[in-house]
Order: sequence, then C-alpha cells, then structure tokens
Amino acid sequence: MEYCLTAEGLSKHYRHFKALNGLSIHVPKGSIYGLVGRNGAGKTTLIRLICGLQRPTAGEYTLYGRKSTDKEITEARRRMGAVVETPSVYPDMTAEENIRQQYLLLGLPSFDGISELLCLTGLENTGKKTARHFSLGMRQRLGIAIALAGAPDFLVLDEPANGLDPEGIVEMRELILRLNRERQITVLISSHILDELSKVATHYGFLDHGRMVREVSARDLEIACRKCVRLQISHTGSLARVLDQMGLEYKILGETEADVYGEVHLSRLVMALSQEGCEVLGMQEHNESLESYFMSLMGGGDHV
Ligand code: ATP
Repeated sequence: MEYCLTAEGLSKHYRHFKALNGLSIHVPKGSIYGLVGRNGAGKTTLIRLICGLQRPTAGEYTLYGRKSTDKEITEARRRMGAVVETPSVYPDMTAEENIRQQYLLLGLPSFDGISELLCLTGLENTGKKTARHFSLGMRQRLGIAIALAGAPDFLVLDEPANGLDPEGIVEMRELILRLNRERQITVLISSHILDELSKVATHYGFLDHGRMVREVSARDLEIACRKCVRLQISHTGSLARVLDQMGLEYKILGETEADVYGEVHLSRLVMALSQEGCEVLGMQEHNESLESYFMSLMGGGDHV
C-alpha cells in the first residue's frame, strides 16, 4: 500500500509533558483517515508537526516518502493543504478576495481556478459579503477553499465539524466526500465526533495519551462492530452448508463456534441445524457501536 503520511516513534514534549509519545501512523493514499481521540490526546499536536508549525522532540515522519529531516520535505509539504484549529481568513475580505490573497502568497502565476474553488466549496453566491458576516460553516468552507489554492493532493482538517449546525455538518461531509472522490484528494480529519466521522472515513487511527492505540480500515471496523449472533454448536461441519443455503454471512471461529451476521431468524436456523444433526448449545447477540469500540480500546474512562 502507498502512504501519504507515515510516522514512527514520533514524540513532542513540552518540558516533562509528552503530548506525543512515540506515535506511529500510516495514512494510505486516497483514503479519508479519521484521527480519533479524546480532548488532549495529541491530535492537533500531530497536525501541527506535519504542517511544519512545530518540530518533533524525537522520531520522524514521512510525507510522500520524504523524511521530515530531509530538506525536500518543504516540497512534499507543498502537496498538502491544511485547516488547523480555526480557519485563518481575513474578516474584512470577501471569499474571492481571501482566496486571491492565498494565490498571491503562494506566488501562483494566475488567478485561474478561483471561481471553481468558490463553486466547489459552495461559496459562489457570497458576492460582496465579507468573511466577518459568514456563518461558521461558511468560514470553515472558506478555510478549505484557501487550503485548496495550491491544488494539494493531501488535505488535513482539524475538527472540521466542530461547532457546526446540522446543515453545516452535512455540507462539510459532502464537501469532504466530493474532494476525495472527484479530486482523489487524501483527507486526514481529526475529530471526536465518531458518528459523523463514520459517515466519511475509510480508515481510522485511535489516539490516546500521545500514542496510536490502533489503526483500522472502515471495512474491518464495520466487521468488528457489526450486529452478529455468536453460536456455540456441537460441531461446525454442516453449519456452513446450512448458512449458505439460508444466504447468511458468517465466520467460523473454531470447531464449535461461529459468528452469523445480519438479520438471523433464530428458530429457523436452529431447526435447519438440528435436521443436519448439529445441536445449538448457546448463542449471544453482539452489536458493538463505534463508540463502544472506541471506549473498549481506550479502556473506559472519560467519554469522547
Ligand atoms: P483537542 O480535541 O482538545 O483539541 P487534541 O487531541 O488536539 O485535543 P492537543 O491540542 O494536541 O490535543 O494537545 C495535547 C496535549 O498537549 C494537551 O494536554 C495540551 O494541553 C498539551 N499542549 C499542547 N500544546 C502545548 C504547549 N504549547 N505547551 C504545553 N502543553 C501543550
């Protein structure tokens, strides 16, 4: 797999406090990577490091294969756009003027593409309105438009849904999905709103106390969190045949245990198994939510 961003043993200390403590991360190219963690877990610190706003105390990261210690890291960083904490916009400028300003800052040869960026971020009808009078959602989207000025293929967003109303959240979600699907932009999103993240993320990294506790693809997480019935049976021999006939998805866990996914008609299943001479000895329903998966990873405690 190809990665936009990787890190091993990345640490950032503030005196004796370890904001990042030997963190590792692997962000696949083309993914929407959800960086999940409680307040203070180190999400913003990691983002500040990879944006070059701060230096690591120890360890290194690579951006598009360039090590953070190489001189060429600045070139790799040009492929990246970011909105860290609150978006930096000029309040007395319109959306278009703000984006123009960024074009000038980046030394871009022409102003081509500005109206496309305004359309992409849903700001094409804001006209003469200055950013001061924008809603929070509009400001966030303007922040993204500014971050996209250099045509990055890696976009980093720190808590993009924070403080947004339901409509703003939906617009943000649609924008992130469009950038990823239509422009093949890899997106790293830090968030503690798990439910919202689960609507866009293709990969997750769970952070706690400055460490990566687990990285998992959305597909594997879905399997881990899926509703299933765990069956204990006398033997699994005929189970697969019966489940195949019933069109059910399953996973054989051992000689006498299996997980069956989806809506299971239990009495029909038990009857079909007994006709095959297979006795059901026990069954439990499993239905782990993303939230409870996170809580079990973090070992309980505070809520996200
Ligand atoms: P949040 O969701 O609240 O933004 P976070 O996961 O982004 O949390 P960080 O902002 O990365 O967390 O902070 C991680 C820890 O490092 C926090 O305990 C914070 O107080 C501490 N920290 C961050 N910056 C500094 C600093 N400049 N000096 C001292 N401590 C800091």
